Amino acid sequence: MRWSEFFIPTTKEVPKDAVVPSHVLMLRAGLIRQLAAGIYSYLPLGYRALRKVEAIVRDEMNRAGAIELHMPVLQPVELWEETGRTEAMGDVLLRLAGPKGDWRSQTVLGPTHEEPITEIARAYLRSYKQLPVCLYQIQVKFRGEARPKSGVLRTREFLMKDAYSFHDSLECLGEEYKKMYAAYCRLFARCGLPYVVVEAESGPIGGDASHEFMVQTDAGEDTLVRCGSCGYAANTERAEARPVPQDEAEMQSLKDVHTPDQRTIDEVTAFLGLTPERMIKTLVYVDGSNGQGDDAPGAGDAVPVVVLVRGDHEVNENKLNRVAGASLELADEATIEKLTGAKVGFAGPHALDKSGAGYRLIVDQAVAGMRNGATGACKTDYHATGVNPVRDFALTGDHVIVDDVRLVAAGDACAKCGGALESEKCIEVGHVFQLGTKYSDAMKANYLDKNGRAQPLIMGCYGIGLNRIMAAAIESSHDDGGIIWPMTIAPFHVLILALDPRKEDVVATASKIHDELETAGIDVLLDDRNERAGFKFKDADLIGIPVRITVGSRALVDGMVEIKERRAENVEKLAPKAAVQRARDLVAAALKKLEQ
Ligand code: ATP
Ligand code: MG
Repeated sequence: MRWSEFFIPTTKEVPKDAVVPSHVLMLRAGLIRQLAAGIYSYLPLGYRALRKVEAIVRDEMNRAGAIELHMPVLQPVELWEETGRTEAMGDVLLRLAGPKGDWRSQTVLGPTHEEPITEIARAYLRSYKQLPVCLYQIQVKFRGEARPKSGVLRTREFLMKDAYSFHDSLECLGEEYKKMYAAYCRLFARCGLPYVVVEAESGPIGGDASHEFMVQTDAGEDTLVRCGSCGYAANTERAEARPVPQDEAEMQSLKDVHTPDQRTIDEVTAFLGLTPERMIKTLVYVDGSNGQGDDAPGAGDAVPVVVLVRGDHEVNENKLNRVAGASLELADEATIEKLTGAKVGFAGPHALDKSGAGYRLIVDQAVAGMRNGATGACKTDYHATGVNPVRDFALTGDHVIVDDVRLVAAGDACAKCGGALESEKCIEVGHVFQLGTKYSDAMKANYLDKNGRAQPLIMGCYGIGLNRIMAAAIESSHDDGGIIWPMTIAPFHVLILALDPRKEDVVATASKIHDELETAGIDVLLDDRNERAGFKFKDADLIGIPVRITVGSRALVDGMVEIKERRAENVEKLAPKAAVQRARDLVAAALKKLEQ
């Protein structure tokens, strides 16, 4: 391919909102162009890389025995109503606009495909003899992401590989899950991505077990904790830490302290001269179940749930909801004032009804082990000190649960080995779930077992964002000059720079190298543009092709060309024939290293 006949609009200018490296570099290198917020075109160079990612993903899915199909983007909203996900997805689920009763108003754009695949399964998978089966597609998804950002890391339209497996037993699902997990490890490694697998929270998709494949990047919106000693890694949404040991300090007496207008942990700790870990944060929640919100009938009737975490800890709402068996939301002012008899900011567990009438209490494990905490006094402008679990508020009883409901943070002790946990920002590139029968129950997708009894299909689902793989690869592999593509997903393997394209010997040599490499099956791009050398070198670094061969008239006098790897400093001078061989060797070695 000749640059002059291709389409690579490299540019120096990028919009101000492009800050993360992959976004900046993909725009500058002419890989993508934004059409609207969170909506991008893939320009030819970018599309080549994306297609390579796609080929690797497809190859690994086929190798794992999954079968490719293709489902529609347009989906009847009825299917989503069957599973109750019009509510669960909220604004993420995009609907076509149309008059009431018109087909458009009944149609959504697929953000994922559990519903259509389950519709196919219930139509055709009727007998245990047809199981297991794993179907996948590589297809565009639409999501009404509230804040599309960071270039193609989070967009409203993106390419996903989504696979769905169907089984007649949990063991069989477990086997498939392992197979997919292994396929994911292989394919991310093949794409040159330094990934970490973490235990994950299943979110609105639901299900029992799930793992996320994460790539470390400051552009990420997820946080993972990792143990430096044993390698334990988990999304902070889910991560556990070793229980905090019981404090054995002597109990002090309970005392109310006047704390006018001091409400937040920072204000109160400064005022009382305490460190945040001496505070008990008392939060009041209510059950906002079924996604119906506060206005739903009966939503206001449920008893408030009082949640206690240490002042330096944050509530992990996923854990909290699991423990509470409900979907909790922070209570409004009126509910808090009614419960505590004080203004918001002065709630404390010791001053609530001792019998537990009118509320439930969820105590984080770390609070249960505290001595002499400080918390609100249930009296406006007062806090209490010397608050002690058991003596001052119950840890047992029908209205009380003690459990782990906090977010794990860097520095906490690893649940597995006690080592110190570290945290880092990351982005999810893939996710595997054991769904169980969530969708088959909701959509009545049953098969007949060996005894002729109808049973719900047991499902797994496995998603990967292709655009994210590409952007995450750039996040993990670039320098100030530009992208450094992993060989496997590089739009071209070799870039030839013809430095003086008006000189016949330069053109002849560069073209010969180009043709020989192309014949050898190498993806090669020849920069034959009539531009200054410096300009071409800059563009070469920017677009990041892994191997560069420079043909210039000065070196050609000695019968030499130069070859350099994008990630290395040193330049090697070789005769053109030897350079072709070296380029082939470098490409083969890099591919082999990633592909094995
Ligand atoms: P996130 O938490 O980042 O929003 P998700 O949990 O919503 O991701 P899934 O529903 O599991 O993602 O989708 C499967 C894969 O699709 C993800 O692992 C990710 O690689 C990709 N993906 C999800 N949302 C987007 C998006 N808005 N833009 C690009 N890729 C996405
Ligand atoms: Mg999402």
